[in-house]
Amino acid sequence: MSKEHLVVERARKAFQTGKSKPLEFRVNQLKNLRRFINESRKDIADACKKDLNKSGNCTELFETLGIDGEINIAVKRLSEWAAPRPVEKSLLTISDEVFLQPEPLGVVLIIGAWNYPWAVTLQPLVGAIAAGNAAVVKPSEVSSHSAKLMEKLLPLYLDEELYPVVCGGVSETQELLRQRFDHVFYTGNSTVGKLVMEAAARHLTPVTLELGGKSPCYIDKNVDLRVACRRITWGKFVNCGQTCIAPDYILCEPSIQNRLVEEIQKCITEFYPDNPKTFEDYGRVINQHHFQRLMSLLEGSTVAIGGESDESLCYIAPTVLKDVRGDSKLMQEEIFGPLLPIVTISGVEEAIRFINEREKPLALYVFSQDRKLIMRMIAETSSGALVANDCLVHFTVSALPFGGVGNSGMGRYHGQHSFDQLSHLRACLIKKLNMEAANAMRYPPHTDKKLAW
Ligand code: NAD
Repeated sequence: MSKEHLVVERARKAFQTGKSKPLEFRVNQLKNLRRFINESRKDIADACKKDLNKSGNCTELFETLGIDGEINIAVKRLSEWAAPRPVEKSLLTISDEVFLQPEPLGVVLIIGAWNYPWAVTLQPLVGAIAAGNAAVVKPSEVSSHSAKLMEKLLPLYLDEELYPVVCGGVSETQELLRQRFDHVFYTGNSTVGKLVMEAAARHLTPVTLELGGKSPCYIDKNVDLRVACRRITWGKFVNCGQTCIAPDYILCEPSIQNRLVEEIQKCITEFYPDNPKTFEDYGRVINQHHFQRLMSLLEGSTVAIGGESDESLCYIAPTVLKDVRGDSKLMQEEIFGPLLPIVTISGVEEAIRFINEREKPLALYVFSQDRKLIMRMIAETSSGALVANDCLVHFTVSALPFGGVGNSGMGRYHGQHSFDQLSHLRACLIKKLNMEAANAMRYPPHTDKKLAW
């Protein structure tokens, strides 16, 4: 029997005792998780520095703050989320109690990715705990310092049987996926997402797949380019471009391309003064495999900004490519690094066609002063989310479901969406035994007289 099998068995037995269900228990575990984040801030920052050269402030802003926020909302709202939810009744059930009762699913497997190793692993865990489940947590082996720290410290704060951490790479994850879970929550690329779904299907286990893809950024020629470029430069180059919702490429008319390049250059100089290579807030590509992948995407393209690299440090400067063709290498796969191609199109019409000819993205960004144009983009395209005149910020709104559509994923989380995603909303109807006369019409014989009633 494998180690993974034993861990899942133990989590299931613990779940079956019912101890994860009382709301008071859930709130306590969530508070313990918050205490873990607060007491381990420095260790978490050190691990992120080693994994991705993240600065302490970046870790605070993009990892721990979000987890903290999700915990706070769950603690505050849990009794409301977990309460029966009355629904509209039919004529036949008018005097009955009809409601949805959220109930835990059972044992959830959470598979995390490396780019935000804490946020994408522990935010789903907040939802799993809040919904009353047990959860096996599998952080990404690629961000190894964070994974080891999570494995060492989390059991000191949370119920060890209900919420075990399993470290390991592909073979350990595959062994986990052979086990029976009640839900699998996976964050990572679409290729592995399909393998996860295939493995889960063998047990008829539902999945949440938080995947990626190429998130387009359309810039209208009448927009304030200075403001647009500040927001785009921030959203693209934070975490060295390794953000699932980073703007992957820009679509704009040829007449504004050079001004865009100038404005982005100004922002890069402002955000990473002197030299991004030596600047604290500029990250690194996670490893040499990804470094080489990114460098090979650059082949044959016209560098307008940046392009410098240092393989020994996994450093690639913030880089902008101009006049990129839709069929170039850069446009075939999600970039997931600090390379920003600009593709020119004739206008909004062509932009919409360009977007719709490709896989549905996780996020779509539109920069425009024209509300009609924004509404047209909403009406005529599809993506996990659409944000106008900014980047990334929708991730911070717990009331907005976070997730993809089509190739960018399925399912959603954050705030109550996490709770609902990891609960079964059980249909409940409670009828009284009196008022039997009111039921006469449904019993045979179905005479005309009864139906005329
Ligand atoms: P990764 O390499 O860390 O893989 C993710 C997880 O899958 C890891 O835990 C890993 O152990 C496991 N895994 C890898 N190969 C496997 C296999 N063959 N079988 C079973 N398990 C396997 O991360 P990644 O996939 O490189 O992550 C980057 C991708 O994730 C990008 O596409 C990005 O857009 C996406 N992403 C999405 C979100 C989101 O919230 N939608 C967040 C972060 C990252």
